[in-house]
Amino acid sequence: MRVWGTEITNITILLLLALIIGGVTGHVVGLLFLLMLSIIVHQFIQINRFEKWIRQGGSIKYPKAKGVWEEIYYHIYRLKKNEKRRKKKLRVIIDQFRQSTEALPDAVIILGEHDEIDWSNKAARQVFGLKTSDKGQRIPNLIRFPEFIRYLKSANYKQSVILPSPLDSKISLEVRVIPYGAGLRLLLAQDVTQLKQMERMRKDFVANVSHELRTPLTVLKGYIETLQDMDDENSPLLTSSFIQMHNQTERMQHLVDDLLLLARLETQQKKTKCVHVPELLTQICKEGDSLGLSNNRIQLTLDTTANIVGEEQELRSAFTNLVSNALKYSTDETTVKVRWYQDTHFVILTVEDQGEGIASHDIPKITERFYRVETKHLKKVSGTGLGLAIVKHVLMRHDAHLRITSELSVGSCFTCYFPIKRICN
Ligand code: ADP
Repeated sequence: MRVWGTEITNITILLLLALIIGGVTGHVVGLLFLLMLSIIVHQFIQINRFEKWIRQGGSIKYPKAKGVWEEIYYHIYRLKKNEKRRKKKLRVIIDQFRQSTEALPDAVIILGEHDEIDWSNKAARQVFGLKTSDKGQRIPNLIRFPEFIRYLKSANYKQSVILPSPLDSKISLEVRVIPYGAGLRLLLAQDVTQLKQMERMRKDFVANVSHELRTPLTVLKGYIETLQDMDDENSPLLTSSFIQMHNQTERMQHLVDDLLLLARLETQQKKTKCVHVPELLTQICKEGDSLGLSNNRIQLTLDTTANIVGEEQELRSAFTNLVSNALKYSTDETTVKVRWYQDTHFVILTVEDQGEGIASHDIPKITERFYRVETKHLKKVSGTGLGLAIVKHVLMRHDAHLRITSELSVGSCFTCYFPIKRICN
């Protein structure tokens, strides 16, 4: 503000001087005109110098100037200096980020709006066989696995996809896309070969052990049954021991069967056909009622005749587990409602009981292997803790999902949603 004051004072003094000299000499208008002209020329020269300076970037030392022009030069020069400093800082941060991502053992690729490579780190170039010159190339042209292209197109990046490395098919890569900013995506790939190998070893181990246990268990059960037949019931201790031994071998047999089924679900190729679900459910409910598990407690409602593409044995296991759980975990006086129906997106199976219910903190855990809710009744209800893990796996193999709702002392409802695209005739 101070410079503006000086500037105005200077012009006022010049004007007054022109008026006084003009008044004395009799050339007021001429002098005023001359004064205006000189002010305009002066400003014109200043603008010209300023334009030249700004054209050179405005960051070199500014020319000598006075008054308002000096202020203008000074402020712009300071702004430019600050901008330069900020840019330098930003460059250092970017360089540090690049260096750290470059050193990452996981592959990182920055993808643009049209799936083109904006940047990739060293690991990405190594595992995908990319070159620095591939920058700007569309990634589906370089990584051509159909499941990867499907994943990229799907825009549903909640889950990852496992791919073999294009350079070495023995290397398994877990690829995940993370969207960020405006249309940009980060592609991360991690070498999971060892993890996969260990998982395969675990599965093979469980499957082998379960398989090997089958024969001795059958032999053991056979001998126990023979001993039970020979028992003259003179010793109550012996009789109750035989019963215990029989029950426990049966429990072990169930465990081995469930483990083998799980192993099969994890490793076997899917063999699908059109499964007649209404028929299957009718059979399962009849079996449940006739096995002495329930006394006509099951109420089956078939609101749709929809059949679905799938594996009958697997679906039978899953549905039987749900129905037998509903019967097991509720009292004999209550009803179990089984319903097969359809809405616009899904074909749905609900198995609803009026049993003891499940606490909300247990609901996410009960589909884990061997998880059994600890209740006071649990001792009476036999089980392996594998039933719902089997259900979850079977549904996954049928593109379906499970929803569990429950309230303690009121009952539980297990709902299986099959996508409508699975319907067959
Ligand atoms: P299992 O029945 O052999 O113990 P599951 O995997 O089928 O194993 O079930 C896991 C646990 O979930 C059960 O132990 C039980 O505590 C609980 N659960 C399953 N179904 C029901 C149900 N309908 N009502 C109450 N609890 C249930």
